[in-house]
Amino acid sequence: MARIHPPIPEVREPRLSGDTSMRETVTPDMSAEIDHRLKIETTDEEDSEDSLLSDTSSDADDTVPKAPPGLPIAQLPTGLCYDDRMRYHAEIAATTGDNVHPEDPRRIYYIYKELCEAGLVDDETYPPMVEVPLKRIDAREATREECLLVHTPEHYDFVQSTAEMSDAQLIDLSEDPAMDSIYFNTLSFFSSKLSAGAAIETCRAVVSRQVKNAIAVIRPPGHHAEVDRTMGFCLFNNVSIASKVCQNDFGEGCRKILIVDWDVHHGNGCQKAFYDNPNVLYISLHVHMNGLFYPSGTEGDMHHCGAGAGLGKNVNIPWPTKGMGDGDYMYAFQHVVMPIATEFDPDFVIVASGFDAAAGDELGGCFVSPPCYAHMTHMLKSLAGGKIAVCLEGGYNFRAISRSALAVTRTLMGEPPDRLHATAATTSAVDTVNKVRNVQSRYWKSIYPKDPVGGIFGGERLHDIIRQWQATHLYDKYKLTQLHIYRDNVSKSFDQQVLATPNYESKKYLLIIFHDSPDLLGVGDGMTTQQKPHDTWLVDGAQSYIRWAVSHGFGVIDVNIPELITISDPNNPEYNDAEVEYASTATDIARKEGEKLAAYLWENYVEPYDFRGGTFLMGAGHAFHAVAKLVSENENVYPNLLGIIGFIATNPIRPIANPGSHWVSQWYRDNSLVFVSQVHSLWKKDGHPSKRYGKLVRSNGEVLNQMMKIHEHEVFDWIKQQIRENATDDTTEDDEDAEGSKDSDGDTIDDPVAPEQQQQQQHPAPSQGSGSGNDSSNSNSRDGPRGAGFAMSSTGSGTGGDVLMTTER
Ligand SMILES: [Zn+2]
Repeated sequence: MARIHPPIPEVREPRLSGDTSMRETVTPDMSAEIDHRLKIETTDEEDSEDSLLSDTSSDADDTVPKAPPGLPIAQLPTGLCYDDRMRYHAEIAATTGDNVHPEDPRRIYYIYKELCEAGLVDDETYPPMVEVPLKRIDAREATREECLLVHTPEHYDFVQSTAEMSDAQLIDLSEDPAMDSIYFNTLSFFSSKLSAGAAIETCRAVVSRQVKNAIAVIRPPGHHAEVDRTMGFCLFNNVSIASKVCQNDFGEGCRKILIVDWDVHHGNGCQKAFYDNPNVLYISLHVHMNGLFYPSGTEGDMHHCGAGAGLGKNVNIPWPTKGMGDGDYMYAFQHVVMPIATEFDPDFVIVASGFDAAAGDELGGCFVSPPCYAHMTHMLKSLAGGKIAVCLEGGYNFRAISRSALAVTRTLMGEPPDRLHATAATTSAVDTVNKVRNVQSRYWKSIYPKDPVGGIFGGERLHDIIRQWQATHLYDKYKLTQLHIYRDNVSKSFDQQVLATPNYESKKYLLIIFHDSPDLLGVGDGMTTQQKPHDTWLVDGAQSYIRWAVSHGFGVIDVNIPELITISDPNNPEYNDAEVEYASTATDIARKEGEKLAAYLWENYVEPYDFRGGTFLMGAGHAFHAVAKLVSENENVYPNLLGIIGFIATNPIRPIANPGSHWVSQWYRDNSLVFVSQVHSLWKKDGHPSKRYGKLVRSNGEVLNQMMKIHEHEVFDWIKQQIRENATDDTTEDDEDAEGSKDSDGDTIDDPVAPEQQQQQQHPAPSQGSGSGNDSSNSNSRDGPRGAGFAMSSTGSGTGGDVLMTTER
């Protein structure tokens, strides 16, 4: 503790190279009408006696405390805590270029400078340009006792011990993997105590109304630091320590604290510090990527909701991917953060404010803009009578963190947030937010829809019911029955998912359809998760293709790819009967099961048989992946393959290519028809898509089953054309009469909408009477018109294909 006055590293001089480029966005004229604008947030200042609020009370006027005259809070200054000495914590070895640790001491200096240059600070070199500049809050070192409110004595003593270590010891320590991305010098202990103390004093100043709100520009950051260990650039958990100190110091006046953590990383340390604490609500928005993003693992998932008395007081909003932006954060704030925070009704709000989700931060890979940070701040200001303290956490792009911190500070001071560019949440954000709401709805009155009370009453997954119904239905209509799949080979999720027409293996043509589960369309009541059966529709785009193919004498194999695949991997305990989304963007482990299934089916149920005419593959939705993999990686599929049909709605479009066989992509281009929704990002790109994506057709549809309906006749025509062309190429196969004669499935006719009649109307039935009748199997020709369609229909039927080609880009 003798090192209170260590040698001071260079500080005040702005030694930024090219700093002018960092400043182009700053400082609109703030001189006018600040007081006017501040009016928006003046209400009563103390509402900790919230018990008188009753959401059903109709005589609310009597219960609202009388506002004091004037604008007593709006006129208070905003606080700023910044201390150069927090820059002492630095790497020992001088590093340059790419080796510089991202948690760079200059981070806080750049932010401070940005605030100065915006005219918000009363600094000797930067005279303020506002009437009420930021009020400086002095940092001090947190005491041992304060740190021990969160951390173990062992942890504190360990960090303290680094102050006495030699450089060699410190370098060794920094390279120790157990330290998890921490570096130390002899001043790290001092700076980290100062950082925690700055957070404490900042929060105390806000809670005690010395300032109306405040920002603490501090480092090293804290939210990863756990009770007993350093982690992720963090030594002491600043925000958690400050929370405990305020609860101790202010009692009932600061009983309930909300911590909002918008750092791009999950604040594992904060979550753990308060996991069973009912009075600290921790809400974190972070990139999770199914546990692959730092700090990795399951702790940041949405199912970690707190424990014991703290159950429900932990809210994780885990983004499944990087790349989230303003629309996503606003959506999460409007649908999860603010409803829950409002219901919690905190006495005090702390923001664990990493700016590494900001646009420009490489570590975070997200795109949150300064105006978005301002809007989030503005929303939080409505809570706790405006008592909000923003404490810096991560954020590693100097320009991004400076601009973001400035936007936040201006909003704290009373300036309205800049306008946001019109934006919408991505579907993955909406999906995540909906799932979080579903998880949290049991803990928060204001969050709907609610799960049925008492849970699910021994119900069955509708998915399973539908598949059973499909099996029955498809059996009744087309005699489809299950193909047996050996469980050793693929996930049990594919049990009952593969159906085939009777004697499919003896047909001349085969159609294999890999498709996603059918859609259920319905409007819930928004109150519960109940779905009314009479308002819910089952849409199964594959059915009309099965009907058409069966009625034309094809063998059909129908493969339903469930949304969730059960994965058991003996080598990976994480996957012990785990349900993994087939469409997951974080892992392809479920799709690998689909690939295995496709290869297995081909090997066991297709390859051994002689489909003399040929085989068609169809992939619809995410299930297309399995088709793409099968034909990319198995050359032996081609001799028998006449074409591939794809339907791509919003799922990624997969290329078909084989580095060892360059003809594969050209073959694919010539023998495929891939419908891609008009809203697919593919169409937003310039230039021609590679032929590896096949023959692309822009579809007016947007939803998979809708697309399958819209284009069914184009597909039927195209299949016929492919058969015709193939037949022309190879005259020995030109026995078009075969289809009629082969098709002995008389029961297919009983379909109410006789498919062959439709066909005939649109595509005049070709002569089925080439009369050769020389096909081996059965000469039964009573079903002749069916299936006779393709080989000879030289008139009309090909136009569909031609039209399509003109629409291609
Ligand atoms: Zn971070």
